[in-house]
Amino acid sequence: MALLGALACLGLLFLPVFLFKKNLRLYLNLLLPIFLLIPFDLGSIILFGAPINDSTILLVLNTNFHEAMELIGGYLFTLTIGIAFYGVGLLLLFNKVPNTMPSKTASYTSLISLIVILALPLFDNGIKEYFTNLRSRFYTIFPTSLLYAAKMNYAQYQLVNSTRQERESFKFNAKQDVNINGKQLYILVIGESSRYDHWGINGYAKNTSPHLSKRENLISFNDAAAGGFITEYAIPLLLTGVGADNFNKHYQQKSIVSAFKEAGFATYWLTNQVDEGHISIHIQEAEKQILLISDYRATKNVHRDMELVETLKKIFTEPGDKKFIVLHTSGSHYDYSVRYPDYFDIIKPSNKTVFSKSADKRFKDVLVNSYDNSILYTDTVVDSVITLVSSQNAYSSVTYISDHGENLFDDQRNLSQHAYPVPSKYIAHVPYFVWYSPLLEKIFPDKIANLKLHRNAKISSENIIHTITSMSGVRYSKQDSSKNVTSPYFKNNEQRILGANKKVYSAATLK
Ligand SMILES: [Zn+2]
Repeated sequence: MALLGALACLGLLFLPVFLFKKNLRLYLNLLLPIFLLIPFDLGSIILFGAPINDSTILLVLNTNFHEAMELIGGYLFTLTIGIAFYGVGLLLLFNKVPNTMPSKTASYTSLISLIVILALPLFDNGIKEYFTNLRSRFYTIFPTSLLYAAKMNYAQYQLVNSTRQERESFKFNAKQDVNINGKQLYILVIGESSRYDHWGINGYAKNTSPHLSKRENLISFNDAAAGGFITEYAIPLLLTGVGADNFNKHYQQKSIVSAFKEAGFATYWLTNQVDEGHISIHIQEAEKQILLISDYRATKNVHRDMELVETLKKIFTEPGDKKFIVLHTSGSHYDYSVRYPDYFDIIKPSNKTVFSKSADKRFKDVLVNSYDNSILYTDTVVDSVITLVSSQNAYSSVTYISDHGENLFDDQRNLSQHAYPVPSKYIAHVPYFVWYSPLLEKIFPDKIANLKLHRNAKISSENIIHTITSMSGVRYSKQDSSKNVTSPYFKNNEQRILGANKKVYSAATLK
């Protein structure tokens, strides 16, 4: 893969040689910015196991000097030597390159480069998706990947900025309408790429949820649907409940975080993902944000989900009796085997020991084993959150719902991961668990009874904001009992899900 990547990169760099055959040094000077960026790209590969992409740029923008030094501190010596060698190499190159090249050599160079660029996509997934493969190469291969990354970041920045005023003046008019004396802790754990049917608790053949299966006061809902097919769409929909048909409305309003804030709760956002524009506008609503950011494309220096639980432990010692906390996890995002530590490598063989491409169906078993281990790990993560919350003896609940599911070579389409424009039923159907403390059940017995009653109802992530607020006794003007799973008036949701190009599907129609 590295060799093919290097070939593509060289192909791009040598393609214009023919145009500059009489002025090669001019071309070399034009390339200088790219040469200067190469050490950073290499550094990113060495440090994070992934080249620079749009998330890396966000990661750099979000980090501080201390954090950065902590990360590169151990590499500082090697880095300095590497850069010195590279600098000398560059100098030599600039001195050696002649200004002109024979026309024949130049045309051969450009022609071969063109052939390389056009031929490489054939090695991806066959010719079926040739043009998609060709195009996506420019997004992922240095140096054009940097342009793409910069463009993505800028577009997001503009969109977020243009809607800022409307969002900031938005109000839920939320307040708690019950008098609760004592500690209150409401936790929302957002899963990543976790699908309903790979959980033991939901009937999967492998016991991937040994802990949650034994939990008391835990309800697993059987028919919950994601709001969007990718994280960037699914999470704002989940947080704001605007519905997949009105995705853009989420820019104009605040999320569940602010509903709790208005009702007097201290609000926290904990994440180990790089949350881009759509999500970060809602993260900013939280009074405290703990961002252990690591790009899911990275294979090194990643923050695992259990670190979020450790952080949660610290938050519980902070003063204040009313807390609402969101944990945005990395869950089961590809590369699955990177999500969990070695001692969770229980189902074997996995990608911990076998290398495979993510879309190579010949390795289906290995990929699925890795995926299932990541579910095993998530089971422990969510169970640990419940143990922690439960030890606080509070009026409390823990909600877990995944942003969307994942394709695992389920049928003859051999789909993998989750980014196909039309979502599959494996993307739409997500696990949704609610744990409630005995104290909470004592004050809201009817609400808990209704939750249990609706265990097989058609639910969507759109229902989350109405449900969690209601379960906590928080009321706001647009709270809708027909969308509130704890209400006797709850109505089966239409389960709309947003796919690519702003097309919306009903989950029931998906294959
Ligand atoms: Zn996701």
